Amino acid sequence: MNNYYELCRLCPRNCEVNRLAGLTGFCGETACLRIGAAVIHRGEEPPLVGTGGSGTIFISGCNLGCVFCQNYQISRCTGADSGMPRPGKAVSAGEFADICIALRDTGAENINIVTGSHAVPAIIDGLIAARKAEVRLPVLWNSSAYETCDTLYLLKDHVDIYLPDLKTLDSSIAAKFFNAPDYPAAAAAAILKMIEMVECSRNGKVIVRHLILPGYLESTRSVLRWFADNAKQSALLSLMTQYTPIPNRGMTAPRRFLSKEEYETVIGWLDDFGIEEGFCQEFVTGSEWLPDFTRANPFSSALSVPVWSPAEL
Ligand code: SF4
Repeated sequence: MNNYYELCRLCPRNCEVNRLAGLTGFCGETACLRIGAAVIHRGEEPPLVGTGGSGTIFISGCNLGCVFCQNYQISRCTGADSGMPRPGKAVSAGEFADICIALRDTGAENINIVTGSHAVPAIIDGLIAARKAEVRLPVLWNSSAYETCDTLYLLKDHVDIYLPDLKTLDSSIAAKFFNAPDYPAAAAAAILKMIEMVECSRNGKVIVRHLILPGYLESTRSVLRWFADNAKQSALLSLMTQYTPIPNRGMTAPRRFLSKEEYETVIGWLDDFGIEEGFCQEFVTGSEWLPDFTRANPFSSALSVPVWSPAEL
């Protein structure tokens, strides 16, 4: 599947760079698949965690680049903007399969691939290798939804559960925080494509995540309205309250946590839109959710158990 990288149009950025030749576009990654960490994660939605935890693989690089990204150390950092290299290690398809095997053998309920939109062809090669190695766990696609329908279609036979974000439907917010004014249109189309694909399979699911941004409740209201009108019958909503201001980064992003009043306002809107099923994080203020990918276990021991980390850490 390497030719997808030759004139890369894997995502809506359409950089048209030759990643096979070692060039990089907006996502900052060549054709090599790099992984920042693999952990047993206990912080996902309860059915995805089960008893064994979610076998989570964090892909290095990102095609969206939110200014408030909690995973910025592996998604955006480069030596130039942080004084430290972006943690991550290039892996072959066989090594990707070995990580899946290690997750399975540690008790993972699933393989949860985080932010892989810019690396779909290599991830598919890795998943095929994992299947050949008898890894039979459900595969989760945990993404920003800044994806093209053509690239998503490549995942059709490899992914069981889609976990897309729907960050905003306001182009000015998407321009301000992601430098992607086309995010609303692209993400809405991507989520509808995911729903279409799972409706063709027997066991597939879509869970749409929305992180409430402090001070931007009208954006959340628009997302709830869109979800109720377009996806409520086929997908579940997961409301996330864990927005965390990052010290010394993303200065244009909200510099505070969500307030209790904002939280209760949004919970009330769920009734307004008849959204009855899904998930909602409890009201949280604190940095518990902020990972540190320079450690072998990026999260607290209550949230995750490390299974694999790049050798250079
Ligand atoms: S995957 Fe990366 S290089 Fe390719 S179009 Fe998207 S941002 Fe650009």
